[in-house]
Amino acid sequence: MNKEEIERIKQLLSTPKKIIIVPHRNPDGDAIGSILGLYHYLLNGQHKVSPITPNNYPNFLKWIPGENTILKHDSQTELCEKLINEADIIFTLDFNAFHRTGKMEPILSKSNAIKIMIDHHQAPDDYATYMYSDVKMSSTCEMVYHFISMLGNLNKIEAKIATCLYTGIMTDTGSFRFASTTTTTHKVVADLIERGANNSEIHNSVYDTNSYSRIQLLGCALNNLKIIPELKTSYITLSQEELNKYNYTKGDTEGVVNYGLSLDGIKLAAIFIEDKNEGIIKISLRSKGVFSVNEMSRKHFNGGGHTNAAGGKSYSSLQETVEKFISILPTYKKALNDE
Ligand code: 5GP
Ligand code: MN
Repeated sequence: MNKEEIERIKQLLSTPKKIIIVPHRNPDGDAIGSILGLYHYLLNGQHKVSPITPNNYPNFLKWIPGENTILKHDSQTELCEKLINEADIIFTLDFNAFHRTGKMEPILSKSNAIKIMIDHHQAPDDYATYMYSDVKMSSTCEMVYHFISMLGNLNKIEAKIATCLYTGIMTDTGSFRFASTTTTTHKVVADLIERGANNSEIHNSVYDTNSYSRIQLLGCALNNLKIIPELKTSYITLSQEELNKYNYTKGDTEGVVNYGLSLDGIKLAAIFIEDKNEGIIKISLRSKGVFSVNEMSRKHFNGGGHTNAAGGKSYSSLQETVEKFISILPTYKKALNDE
């Protein structure tokens, strides 16, 4: 984002506006943290601000400051669409294409509001009036921090905003351990702690709220883990029946794929989760080093994301999806064995 664009955005935000903030469907910690961090920041400017998510999100995010103000498009469709139609500005956060908002795609596509994108996913679509896209960023939350900084308002980041942004940086970097974590990320996080984010409490709220059944589901997933040593690959399956058996609720499988990637010598890890309700298999892919799961997901699994973390879906059965995965792996043999 250049200086001129920042000046224009400053001008735009200098008078009260009706603003919507939207993340991707099935929002994660970075999505919820970034929309709420920006929400608190913009509220200070006397705007009318509505955070709208396409659908619900996991319980371990339901303590983030301002979370109770979020409207959900799938259950409050009429109200959400009225607000979107009346909006002057729509911020789109943590996604790169309208289809990532699921059923919100049509209303967003036809809206005449000024769109401001803040996102770190690869290959962003060209819909935004102002586009702040940087695939090198650890998280959208880190970008919201830089955005506020570019507007010259770091001093406006108080404890609530710091808490929201810290949460998303923490979840999207796997607690500051993924390769996307830079020295700047650590400086941002240090500043957020100074501004009132309680790092230890945030960590506990997100990660130490497991139910017994969730741990059992993890046990089931780990039991199902398979490895293909010659292709440096591991994969996990979870059928709808298994999910039901352990009272699956949204977010319960978050992070499970990383166990497969933690195995010595493994470069590519996948998890296939059956969703009978939606009639799809939800796929998460993770990799180490230069192997791009973004490319693999785009090409074969109707998805995308980042080099080392991507999502996708399949409309075939669980077994057929796994078979397809195994059948395409040999085409990546060289890449998987490259150092
Ligand atoms: P997850 O496996 O946790 O669902 O997703 C991993 C990463 O890929 C996240 O950053 C997520 O936002 C992104 N992602 C998931 N599904 C898609 C998709 O269909 N398209 C794109 N571009 N990114 C995705
Ligand atoms: Mn993100």
